[in-house]
Amino acid sequence: MFGLVEKKSTLKLEDAIYDGVLEAGKGWMHELKEGQRFMILDMEGNQAVDTTFYDLETPEDHYSAIKTIVAQKNIYLTTGTILRAESGEPLLTITADMTGRHDTLGGACSSQSNKVRYALEKEHMHNCRDNFMQQLANNMNGLNKRDLAPNINFFMNVPVTKEGGLKFDDGVSAPGKYVEMEALKDVMVLISNCPQLNNPCNAYNPTPVRLLIWEA
Ligand SMILES: [Zn+2]
Repeated sequence: MFGLVEKKSTLKLEDAIYDGVLEAGKGWMHELKEGQRFMILDMEGNQAVDTTFYDLETPEDHYSAIKTIVAQKNIYLTTGTILRAESGEPLLTITADMTGRHDTLGGACSSQSNKVRYALEKEHMHNCRDNFMQQLANNMNGLNKRDLAPNINFFMNVPVTKEGGLKFDDGVSAPGKYVEMEALKDVMVLISNCPQLNNPCNAYNPTPVRLLIWEA
């Protein structure tokens, strides 16, 4: 069982070849070449960063929560986790992690989940699925909502109870905490920096994250 073990990065922030801030609620899409490292840094703490990946060679082969969970026999993602595609192909591996736990069961928030989980009038509130769709439409020719599958919610704490229930709990992250991964092949990263205002995962307060890439 993974027990919230912190593992620090060995990389220097000033050596990054990409260093940008993704504002709260915004989407982002970017290529990662094999061997490059990628870091998501939680600037203000308890932000949920909805993320998925595509194999650049065969973009219809996207990240698979099930393949990832089954291969490592654990539902939580942390250092050492291999993030796998639908085909089972390893896409990335987590190389450092300051929170020790990330969710891949909860899925991305959507207009449907806003309506079902919270209230009818929340249906039209800004959500991750719409961010994903917009980024896909702008950056990946030919991919659409059928290419969205259960994603990763970095920094999000969704413990599973003894009875098998899912809880959306307070975040375990804090300002300056980060997760770092290495691309095991060329991939496309798709992020929605969750705009959700109805869920304690981001303390009801979406905040910016810093995104960094290092050369292989
Ligand atoms: Zn969201």
